[in-house]
Amino acid sequence: MSLVEIKDLKVHYPIRSGFWNRVTDEVPAVDGITFNIEAGETYGLVGESGSGKSTTGKSVVGLEKVTSGSILYNGQDITKKENRRKLDYNHDVQMIFQDSLSSLNPRKRIEDIIAEPLRNFEHLSKEDEKLRVLQLLDIVGLDADALYKYPHQFSGGQRQRIGVARAVATNPKLIIADEPVSALDLSVQAQVLNFMKKIQREFGISYLFISHDLGVVRHMCNNIAIMNRGRLVEIGTRDDIYNHP
Ligand code: ADP
Ligand code: ADP
Repeated sequence: MSLVEIKDLKVHYPIRSGFWNRVTDEVPAVDGITFNIEAGETYGLVGESGSGKSTTGKSVVGLEKVTSGSILYNGQDITKKENRRKLDYNHDVQMIFQDSLSSLNPRKRIEDIIAEPLRNFEHLSKEDEKLRVLQLLDIVGLDADALYKYPHQFSGGQRQRIGVARAVATNPKLIIADEPVSALDLSVQAQVLNFMKKIQREFGISYLFISHDLGVVRHMCNNIAIMNRGRLVEIGTRDDIYNHP
């Protein structure tokens, strides 16, 4: 059994219009895709902008309403909200986004941002929580004085480290990384990618690594799927994909 098994997943967004705001059409953002993610691997999902990658990622983390198909996590279908709740699913599965400035709450201090998943899932004492947050800052290479600052006081690369610290706070099994380095300068991209690999080795995490950048995916992923207009047009190992005749 794979860690994640995605079977014939469809996510169609309703389009509403007119005075009554009725559903008049739909966008087949994800239109029947099937692939598996194994424990410990970095699975690459590539494709042009608008091909359905983010929608797939958000569906796996439980942030998007699935139209049909299934997403099995350790054999349990997490497209059903009651299963996600029963499994404490987001203790195990977290997501990081491209634009960490808009995904980190600008009005919250870094301490509260990183502690959020801990507060949701692990009920630590104030002292233990602070120790844990300090440890996480250390893992991602930020100083303790970051605790009391706000997201806008950091660079893009530092903010991405904060996003990763929050994502790994509960020792998750899977992280959906949606264009995690696309907004960063090239020199900072390599740092963040290497540091994501380091964390993967230390924590035994699997990644669903979403990117429009084939070079980055080639560097990070052994298994790759190429998405186009909501469908998978190619799926295989890095060698299959890059050493085409
Ligand atoms: P990608 O991540 O590959 O850029 P997305 O999953 O963001 O692709 O988008 C896939 C398609 O779904 C696009 O046509 C996009 O415009 C559309 N889409 C995304 N989010 C929504 C939404 N909330 N409502 C309607 N259409 C959406
Ligand atoms: P809800 O459905 O609880 O009203 P949301 O739609 O915002 O709230 O989130 C759906 C679920 O996804 C919630 O359980 C939330 O904790 C979780 N969630 C939100 N953001 C992330 C993230 N970046 N990583 C993991 N889980 C998340």
